[in-house]
Amino acid sequence: MSKKDKLPEWAPQNGGEGFACRVMEGVEGGHDGIAFYAGTKSSPVSANYERPSLSVDDYVDGTLRGDIAMLGRTITLVESNSHAHMELAQEVLGRLLPGTGNSMRIGITGVPGGGKSTFIEALGRHIIKQGHKVAVLAVDPSSSITGGSILGDKTRMEQLSRDINCFIRPSPTGGTLGGVTRKSRETILVCEAAGYDVILIETVGVGQSEITVRSMVDFFLLLMVAGAGDELQGIKRGITELADALLINKADGDNKTFAKVARNEYERALQYIQPATKGRQTHAYTCSAVTGEGIDKIWSVIEDFRKKTTESGVFESRRRSQTWDWVHAMLNEHLRTLFLKNPGVVDVLPEIEKAVTNGTMPPTAAVNKLISMFEGKK
Ligand code: GDP
Repeated sequence: MSKKDKLPEWAPQNGGEGFACRVMEGVEGGHDGIAFYAGTKSSPVSANYERPSLSVDDYVDGTLRGDIAMLGRTITLVESNSHAHMELAQEVLGRLLPGTGNSMRIGITGVPGGGKSTFIEALGRHIIKQGHKVAVLAVDPSSSITGGSILGDKTRMEQLSRDINCFIRPSPTGGTLGGVTRKSRETILVCEAAGYDVILIETVGVGQSEITVRSMVDFFLLLMVAGAGDELQGIKRGITELADALLINKADGDNKTFAKVARNEYERALQYIQPATKGRQTHAYTCSAVTGEGIDKIWSVIEDFRKKTTESGVFESRRRSQTWDWVHAMLNEHLRTLFLKNPGVVDVLPEIEKAVTNGTMPPTAAVNKLISMFEGKK
């Protein structure tokens, strides 16, 4: 049954010609939900209400102008999984690349309820007062599985989201963690090209996500609360080792004393841990995202970190190796996909899996067999 068959009797049955209100056919695929501006050169109003497709120039010029709607559309383009969009996105990114890299990229992790969004709101507003433009992004490993998003709730960071010098983008959804990583990294570049000079990337403190975010930021902050116990906070030694600063949040009211005690304990423990950044001893601090106490201090720590690591060359060399690691990570993912889609491999995979799990074929022989199928040998 076509959509027209479902039209009520009173509705024009001729597709709406000559009638002000007509039923629009649905649009295939996703959309970014951002209305185009009527009457601008890049977004002309179309007589038949079709969304105009944009040229590479439109995306590039709009982003470089810092036009929020265009920035949103460029990010939607780089987040798209469609092959045609990906090609266009790469052309746009190539053109934006000279305007990227001039930001401080800061990763923020911690367990849910630790105060990440309250902290980002307080820090973001403080940074904007210093004359910066802030973009807030999220890497949410659960979003690739459940479609949920840690930044999906618009009521989080309410005041910050209203500031014209702040841009907040929820976590990209869909696809693998590798796909989410690509989208987040490319989104960082797009935001930088649009003039955002501080990028805050939030992630929840579980599983693989800290390592992913660590690999795309200059400074990594671990937000904790006192008294919850390390076990409860899911804080493993490995995660502490990734951090450039530990920040005990909620240091206010009755909790202030506990927070200070916790800070001293972490400070002692940090003496025995390899610093995350060469030549920089990691320290523990306290703050209250609610009262704002300690927010200026952590920002000055981050600024000092940038200054010193730039002088020592560590900042630049980390950026370079992160970019090259990214190439490797993407290559791995692409090769894996190619391999698993290869018809020869697809043919024999079930029987090889059976043989290996039955114990009749050794894993090494299985791999050799699969590789030779991939190479087209029998
Ligand atoms: P997230 O899940 O890590 O993003 O945590 P939220 O920012 O949503 O905060 C969780 C709860 O902790 C909320 O009720 C906040 O109001 C509260 N909270 C956050 N930061 C502070 C703080 O510095 N002091 C106090 N007392 N409460 C805080």
